[in-house]
Amino acid sequence: MKDLICLEFQDSVSKCLLRHRSILDVLSKLQEATARTNRAVAKSVTCCGCIEIQGSKQRIPAEASLGEADRFLSTHLEGELCVNCREQVEEELGTILFYLAGLCNLLDISLYDLLVKEQKKLYSLGPFTLS
Ligand SMILES: [Zn+2]
Repeated sequence: MKDLICLEFQDSVSKCLLRHRSILDVLSKLQEATARTNRAVAKSVTCCGCIEIQGSKQRIPAEASLGEADRFLSTHLEGELCVNCREQVEEELGTILFYLAGLCNLLDISLYDLLVKEQKKLYSLGPFTLS
């Protein structure tokens, strides 16, 4: 039952992806959507100003345990997305999902199975999944 939404989404994407059937189109559209998401976040910082990026080196004390590490790690993000910026970022993330589902369709990969597999990895590896 839980996989139904993923199946329906993949099916809907398949029906909508008539113009971009080629894997080359899907790959490049997915990359474009990722770039547009980055741009939307950047514009939230530079044009709107609802969020700021305060970048600095991550410093974790040597004596800190792995469980404590998250207390010392910063997102480098200040503020929250305003309604307009959130809408724009969500729109771009939705496009990423669309083309990700399209890529899964072309390669006969179940989006649901992929989510389950990644979730299992998170459960079994925990904080060691840091990349
Ligand atoms: Zn904003």
